[in-house]
Parts: sequence; C-alpha cells; structure tokens
Amino acid sequence: MEDCLFCKIIRGELPSKKVYEDDDVLAFWDISPLAPVHVLTVPKKHIESAMKLGDADAELLARLHHGIREVARATGIEESGFRIVSNVGSDGQQTVPHLHFHVIGGRQLEWKA
Ligand code: AMP
Ligand code: ZN
Repeated sequence: MEDCLFCKIIRGELPSKKVYEDDDVLAFWDISPLAPVHVLTVPKKHIESAMKLGDADAELLARLHHGIREVARATGIEESGFRIVSNVGSDGQQTVPHLHFHVIGGRQLEWKA
C-alpha cells in the first residue's frame, strides 16, 4: 500500500530498528515503547487488521507467531514472559491500519483494558 506507514518501513522508505526478518515477516522496535521491550511484528503483505485475515492466511499467521517467538528470544524475554497485543479498529485504538502484533515485556506487566 502506497501510503501505509508500515508498508513504507517494510520497503525501507522509512527507518526502523529491526529485530527479526524473514520472507514474510518483519519485526522492529516500537518508536514509543510502553516497556523495556516493545517490538512490533508485522506481515510484509499489507493486511489492514486481524478482521481482514482469511483462511488463506493461516500459514502467514503461523509465520507471524514464529516471528514473535524469534523476537522473544532475541530480546531475552522468552523465559520472563511477555504480552502479545493486536489492536483492531476504533474501540481497539488501532492507529496504524496494517496488521501488527505488539510484543511487550521486560518488566512485570499489569492487566488493564
Ligand atoms: P496501534 O496503536 O496498535 O495501531 O500501534 C501502532 C504502534 O506503532 C504504536 O505503538 C506506535 O508507537 C508505533 N509506531 C508509529 N510509528 C512508528 C514508527 N515510525 N516506527 C516504529 N513504531 C511506530
Ligand atoms: Zn501496509
């Protein structure tokens, strides 16, 4: 997508601090971290949100979760634990309309909706 922020990062038109990359997935540090570890794991293919995933994306979803495990290992939070969050739409406070999984950890988290 031409004007999508994360598509621009994926194409290298905007900078990012990469944590993990493969053919289908890119993971990079969030510009405004909520915790010592805050990494966004995104599909290279533009998908607006979790609501736009289809049956044909089952393998891609598995690849994304593989990427999340690689992020956890690379950032040293695989044992201490972390949270995976994907905000969807207006009430979900999604601000970037390109599917992404926040991987948040590195401190004791609280659970607040
Ligand atoms: P969400 O609000 O769930 O859509 O998440 C979007 C996330 O993207 C927020 O946590 C932002 O801090 C983050 N973000 C926005 N612009 C950038 C950028 N250029 N590089 C890295 N993260 C970004
Ligand atoms: Zn995009």
